[in-house]
Amino acid sequence: MTDMWEKEAPDAQKTLSRVIQYSISEEEARLLDKHLSYVLEQNKRINLTSIENRERAMILHIEDSLVALPEIMRSPQGRMADLGSGGGFPGIPLAIVTKRETTLVEATKKKAALLSVFIQENSLQDRICVEAVRIEELARRQRGQYAVVTARALAPLPVLLELATPLLCMGGALVAYKAGQVEEEAKVANKLKNMLGMEFVGKRELVLSDGMTKREIMVYQKFAEAERDLPRRNGQAQHRPLI
Ligand code: SAH
Repeated sequence: MTDMWEKEAPDAQKTLSRVIQYSISEEEARLLDKHLSYVLEQNKRINLTSIENRERAMILHIEDSLVALPEIMRSPQGRMADLGSGGGFPGIPLAIVTKRETTLVEATKKKAALLSVFIQENSLQDRICVEAVRIEELARRQRGQYAVVTARALAPLPVLLELATPLLCMGGALVAYKAGQVEEEAKVANKLKNMLGMEFVGKRELVLSDGMTKREIMVYQKFAEAERDLPRRNGQAQHRPLI
């Protein structure tokens, strides 16, 4: 049994007050809670996450999505795109807390439709929109229109750089959520970055509040147009790496 106070305080607020330096309002925390509940509920129908336990999901999805807040806050002002958003991580939590205008890009129509329903039901459509297309297609339509691009669990770093650069405005930032063995990826990304007009800004390693889940936030910034025509044909970035 939960007492009144526990019922009143959103779970997200309790969890996050311990780990996020930014204060999260009760309204924001309620939305974060609602989003997580929605994903866990929809997960019975379509595979959005392998984490079914709510407490684990609070850490591995909500807390994890918000760990890059310092990097996002430091990025230039303007629209943010979350590439391969899946159930909406990290895009929805980041949009809720930062209030940035956000585009969630998700090519799987069923997943994109679920994201749209959540956004409509919670009247978030002024701030968050869903593009049910491939990242490459959005890049053809909205070239250079994003100040920040985020991606978690989508692709290796060199691929992320290639997918992000045509979407970014000059000075715009790619904030990549990475884990584990990033050294190899980072080496290849390092060789590619100039050709893609991207420079390495920094990396931050951290451990989530479960004390064991490692996360690396890698930031790159666009300083020039890429030397080759991007995006390449659909799927090429992911299936035929440039190097
Ligand atoms: N970012 C989410 C989901 C990761 S799974 C999370 O961390 O929980 C990767 C997602 O990217 C899948 O939902 C897949 O459909 C989507 N995706 C993969 N390649 C894509 C592309 N080229 N364009 C748009 N979406 C893509």
